[in-house]
Amino acid sequence: MADGPPTSALDQTAAAFIADVRMQADDHHLVPASMVYPLLGAVEAVLKPHQPGRVTIFGHLCKLHKAHRDFSITAREADDVRACPDCTATVYASCAGCGPQVSVNACRAREAIARELTKGGTP
Ligand SMILES: [Zn+2]
Ligand SMILES: [Zn+2]
Repeated sequence: MADGPPTSALDQTAAAFIADVRMQADDHHLVPASMVYPLLGAVEAVLKPHQPGRVTIFGHLCKLHKAHRDFSITAREADDVRACPDCTATVYASCAGCGPQVSVNACRAREAIARELTKGGTP
């Protein structure tokens, strides 16, 4: 909602579909599986590319861990850098969908979906 009106044809189709599902749920207390399933599929499709991707390193690395900057590192190696007293670098898993500059925890697509899902039953 905060992002303004839908622009692309896909957005408009999705918005119309979601409005239709809402109407079915609110007015008729009935949402057929044939409407819910495509909606769930759409959410999954949006989320799919936004998975934890490459580990990104910003800042200073000690001699021991210097090479990590040039290679893709594992979650364990990332933990080593975080625990290392000589490394002052920020290490995070980036979002594969948003790119290396975006932490997977700051991904707006994941955030938005998580926010909606954690709303619970409140209208
Ligand atoms: Zn993302
Ligand atoms: Zn280090």
